[in-house]
Amino acid sequence: MKVDIADIPAHGLQLNITKDGDELQAIAGAVDFTMLPPVSANLSLSKTDGEVLIDGNMAAVIKQQCARCLKQFEQVINSKIDIVYTIEPEHIKKEKELTNEDLSSNYLEGSEIDINAVLFEQLSLDIPMQPVCKPDCKGLCPKCGADLNQRKCSCPATEQIDQRFAKLKELKLNKK
Ligand SMILES: [Zn+2]
Ligand SMILES: [Zn+2]
Repeated sequence: MKVDIADIPAHGLQLNITKDGDELQAIAGAVDFTMLPPVSANLSLSKTDGEVLIDGNMAAVIKQQCARCLKQFEQVINSKIDIVYTIEPEHIKKEKELTNEDLSSNYLEGSEIDINAVLFEQLSLDIPMQPVCKPDCKGLCPKCGADLNQRKCSCPATEQIDQRFAKLKELKLNKK
């Protein structure tokens, strides 16, 4: 979905969007999460002489893998959207082509704003890098792979750590 800045009226433009997630997933390409329908957003677009402002919020249900127990789980991500695009005058644009330093700033290329890209970008910022299915997820046993949320395995996890400490001690003693 694209909005031409010429179509934003002086009093602003309200967008109430509900998507099935597929469109956004298509922009995302190969990412390690799935967007479940519906993805909804309420956006308000307004423009001044040199800028376009987008603010609002969005909500999406994200399915991803728990970093600890590796189970797939779903959670709602609520994002706040607050973006300012600078509409770049033509003459500045020509000078800019010589340098790359401003590529990361929010200059609007052309006259269209890709709303899907705006939503996806914000969402990807708000998705946790190390997602956990629940705050106290116990994860998997590194030795036998048992899901420690379901049962306690009989691996001597603490002994393992003690042995490493013992080795460290040995190293220190040898140095003397
Ligand atoms: Zn987990
Ligand atoms: Zn184990």
